[in-house]
Amino acid sequence: MDATHAPGLRSWVESANVPGHDFPIQNLPLGVFSTPGSRPRGGVAIGDMVLDIAAALAAGRLSGAAAEAAAEPTLNRLMSYGQDAAAELRARLSALLAEGAEPLPDLLHPQSAVTMHLPVEVRNFSDFMASRPHCERLGRARNRDNPLPPAFHHLPVAYHSRASSVRPSGTPLRRPWGQFQRDGAVVFAPTEALDFELELAIWIAEENVLGEPTPISAADRRIFGIGLLNDWSARDIQRFEMPPLGPFLSKSVMTSVSPWVVTMQAMAPFMAPLPPRAAGDPPCPAHLHSSRPDAMRITMRAAIQTPRMAAAGIAPHVVTEAPFEEMYWSAAQMVAHHTSNGCNLLPGDLLGSGTVSGSRPGQEACLAELLLRGPIILPSGETRRFLEDGDCVIFTARAEAPGAVPIGFGECRGSVLPAAAWPVSEEG
Ligand code: MN
Repeated sequence: MDATHAPGLRSWVESANVPGHDFPIQNLPLGVFSTPGSRPRGGVAIGDMVLDIAAALAAGRLSGAAAEAAAEPTLNRLMSYGQDAAAELRARLSALLAEGAEPLPDLLHPQSAVTMHLPVEVRNFSDFMASRPHCERLGRARNRDNPLPPAFHHLPVAYHSRASSVRPSGTPLRRPWGQFQRDGAVVFAPTEALDFELELAIWIAEENVLGEPTPISAADRRIFGIGLLNDWSARDIQRFEMPPLGPFLSKSVMTSVSPWVVTMQAMAPFMAPLPPRAAGDPPCPAHLHSSRPDAMRITMRAAIQTPRMAAAGIAPHVVTEAPFEEMYWSAAQMVAHHTSNGCNLLPGDLLGSGTVSGSRPGQEACLAELLLRGPIILPSGETRRFLEDGDCVIFTARAEAPGAVPIGFGECRGSVLPAAAWPVSEEG
């Protein structure tokens, strides 16, 4: 940790000093934004504002390769430079925005007046499964006594997901059509079991050459930053298509990510040791073992607002509050495992942490798990088994630790649009 994390540090941007704000000066997440009629470019969130990095360069307030990369329409080049470049940029941004520095209001835009874009051109996206309670709850339906997949304790299980359908927060999801079983018959119809999965987005730094694994000792350096990720899932389609090759159309329909990338430098005060393995669990394999504090003290929340709630002015209702710190596998272990066969991870590649379910009731991080305790009851009196048309799902999160100023992640939200009329004639 360094001067950028000091709890007493304040900004000349007043809204950043409001206690409980997602974006105090200790955070400084990076993103890509545009104002009406302008090109997308890099910015940093500070309080309710965005600092325009390109404008700061033009005004001579920032300089250097890292700042120039951070001003581009995607953060891929900055991510290729790695964590040292991000740390250097963070120090410059912190000095520029700190109380006592010359206020530069001309470099700011209100967040309410900008459009946020995908921060990265996503070339690859892999989604993991790293919460033991998530796997146990859903696995019990298949095998009551032995619910975990055979590899669960030995490696972070994952599949290659779809990069082309990753979208920024705010993009609505069109209810997908697909094949699934209903009353013993296989039908092709709009999904009847649309779900969310509350996950962490992990953005990759640098590149390893094909054939050269990143060892666990260096794996934490390959994580540029994190955000929130909704791995939308059609459970009926998933159940039918999954064996034996894994999820396909049930997941590739769309994936939502929050637009702000919270850097690993900002996360320094919130890192913690991984929870110890339970007695009787096999030991962690040596090539994935680390005694670094790679767990993250983040509380993640999922809320739902139905159209009726919105019309009645009822706020989104929190249905899940889950501790990321309890995940069985860390992000660094995911990187080490992913590259252990020599597979190359590229700057800006995206990893999904897997559904971040905790062990206690109320910590189930998807509807399929919540449903095991019965349909959820909303403050409007409505109930939900799965998502209905018009429902809006909103993810938020906070990193907190004793002695540190808490930081937030902004939002990852999306609403469900009704299924389209099937667009293609079925005639030969
Ligand atoms: Mn997932």
